[in-house]
Amino acid sequence: MKKNQVKISDHEIPLYSCKTIIVGSGAAGLNAAKRLYDFGYKDLLILTEGLKKGTSRNTGSDKQTYYKLSLSGSHKDSVYDMAKTYFDGGAMHGDIAKVEAALSVRSFYHLVEIGVPFPHSELGEYVGYKTDHDPAKRATSAGPLTSHFMTEKLEFEVKKRDINIMDQHQLIAVLTDHGKNKVQGLIAIDLNKLNTDKEHFVIFNCNNVIYATGGPAKIYDKSVYPGSQTGATGLAFEAGVKGQNLTESQFGIASTRFRWNLSGTYQQVIPRYISTDQNGNDEKEFLNDYFNNAKDMINAIFLKGYQWPFDPRKVLNQGSSLIDILVYNEQIIKGRKVWLDYTKNPEWASNSKNDFDFNKLSKEAYSYLKNSDVLMGKPIDRLIKMNKPAYDLYKDNNIDLAKEKLEIAVCAQHNNGGLLGNKWWESNLQNLFPVGEVNGSHGVYRPGGSALNSGQVGSLRAAEYIYNTDKNERLNNKEFISIVKDQIISKINFEEKIINNSKGTKPKDLFIESKILMSEVGAIIRSSEKIIEAKDYIKDKLSNLKEELYIDNKVELKTAFHLYDSLITQLVYLYAINDYINNKGKSRGSYLISDLSGKKADRSLPDIFKFNESNDELVEYIQTVSFNIDNLSCQSKWVPRKGLKNDDLWFENEWKKYRDGEIYN
Ligand SMILES: Cc1cc2nc3c(=O)[nH]c(=O)nc-3n(C[C@H](O)[C@H](O)[C@H](O)COP(=O)(O)OP(=O)(O)OC[C@H]3O[C@@H](n4cnc5c(N)ncnc54)[C@H](O)[C@@H]3O)c2cc1C
Repeated sequence: MKKNQVKISDHEIPLYSCKTIIVGSGAAGLNAAKRLYDFGYKDLLILTEGLKKGTSRNTGSDKQTYYKLSLSGSHKDSVYDMAKTYFDGGAMHGDIAKVEAALSVRSFYHLVEIGVPFPHSELGEYVGYKTDHDPAKRATSAGPLTSHFMTEKLEFEVKKRDINIMDQHQLIAVLTDHGKNKVQGLIAIDLNKLNTDKEHFVIFNCNNVIYATGGPAKIYDKSVYPGSQTGATGLAFEAGVKGQNLTESQFGIASTRFRWNLSGTYQQVIPRYISTDQNGNDEKEFLNDYFNNAKDMINAIFLKGYQWPFDPRKVLNQGSSLIDILVYNEQIIKGRKVWLDYTKNPEWASNSKNDFDFNKLSKEAYSYLKNSDVLMGKPIDRLIKMNKPAYDLYKDNNIDLAKEKLEIAVCAQHNNGGLLGNKWWESNLQNLFPVGEVNGSHGVYRPGGSALNSGQVGSLRAAEYIYNTDKNERLNNKEFISIVKDQIISKINFEEKIINNSKGTKPKDLFIESKILMSEVGAIIRSSEKIIEAKDYIKDKLSNLKEELYIDNKVELKTAFHLYDSLITQLVYLYAINDYINNKGKSRGSYLISDLSGKKADRSLPDIFKFNESNDELVEYIQTVSFNIDNLSCQSKWVPRKGLKNDDLWFENEWKKYRDGEIYN
């Protein structure tokens, strides 16, 4: 890495040159850096707005899952079988499915070797369990904080190798050649310099970018992504990187004051679902109005434990996803607050002393609670007995479930879609490799735990490819600046304009407004009319952003640049959703498309909840979307997905291709 200085528009800007830059320090970014270094490729650096920020570092769940090939007992499994599970989730390319399956073992054992405490039996078997959409017990877990452990151990490895880390640097643009064919560099702001007189812009000249910026966490208001995760998907769209499967975000019930998924035991102990007015008055057990009887209601709550994500296939016939619909109805349509209460049993299934009638449980739920020895007490008693750490977790975050109710919402948790990448995770913008959650490798459904596997596999693939193919010298700085100067000036101008504006909207206010809109129209309930309105609104905000925003403290630049990224992301996502509907796309994955010709779960619900299930026609296609920053327009293409081949490879042939480097062609 070399450091110089360059003068642009009266700014004396530090200019770093380095062959490969990894943006983001989550599990995917850190792994990319470690892998590149270990291949023998040393001219690299990590650029991150926060070494301890992001989803991997700061999230978890009841039993946070890692998905890999079965490695215990006599479970029959193969690369093809695992790839088929991915492929059967729909709208995923066969070659990517194969790579994620093939490299799952190497990636998993790598994590074991660096010290992630995945449990094994006394004879060394990594015993698996079944997760959602998984036919083969391929899941494993290091506990509620699997991804946190991954980042800790990977950070240790990165630091041991003295890999350069530029912390507190927020990416604000991806720099490209004139035709937007190839990445040329990056521009960031140094967050520690924002309230000083020192220069805060920083420029990077590089050959390759591994883009590990995580999911677009800030585009929704109701979100269980950790508060520290932002994302930079919009900046990649601005640079010409295409998106794919952007419609396929995943949503589910989570607490909002302390962001955590309410899956597993949190539902299996059968808490009360209540709603109140905005001041906490007028308490009501609102599920009672829509379930046929108490029995159906409590069994749906129990099932929510392991049917956590919202799924339109589980809405009708008193399914567990009816609960998500009802939470949305109370909160978004009726404007009430929704809570879980562990201090009392649901009234409908209890006697006058609030003793729970366990005989109303299905056989499955009854024997689960019986085996756990909790056919007793209130939900909180059952929770503490069955899973004390689950209770302690909230206590540690200043919420005592034994004393207070827990505010919840149907929250965005993950995006199966994201930026387009090929089988080496390279995007359509040459030399830019989206890895981790920002890469949209998955389709409609995916087994729980595949996000973490995909992040490890994708970052390894990108590192291997770069190490084996990057033979070019970097552009010299003069040439580099001549190509990217206008792009840098446009960012400087944006900043100057919003500093000079004396009135308008504060970035944080517009941020809140646009996020609320997204949660209302682009989350689990989607209707064409509202999507078009929201898209036009976001487009209007984006086109006038420079004129509308104003700040009176330079620290607000951080939010202003994030807002810019987020508005682009929202616009492209809304376009993708509308395009899906225009192509006769129906309810699937984790969202419901309002459709007056369809059915709704209960007559008393508004018609916006009428829907038809997808007939699966579109799962053979992948929707890609490109964005044009000049006129803020989008264009979609429906690409037939690559099939999944079950080919019996011949060792000598593959060995030759490997020796000759043909595998990278
Ligand atoms: C509640 C919850 C539970 C989950 N449970 C599971 C599970 O059980 N199994 C599973 O497989 N997956 C799960 N996931 C998903 C999984 O955790 C994430 O997909 C994964 O951790 C993402 O890792 P990443 O490295 O791609 O991104 P992240 O860990 O989010 O890292 C992104 C990095 O990029 C940096 N960054 C972002 N924007 C910028 C910018 N503009 N400039 C500079 N740096 C930037 C961030 O600071 C961060 O360092 C869960 C997610 C949530 C929210």
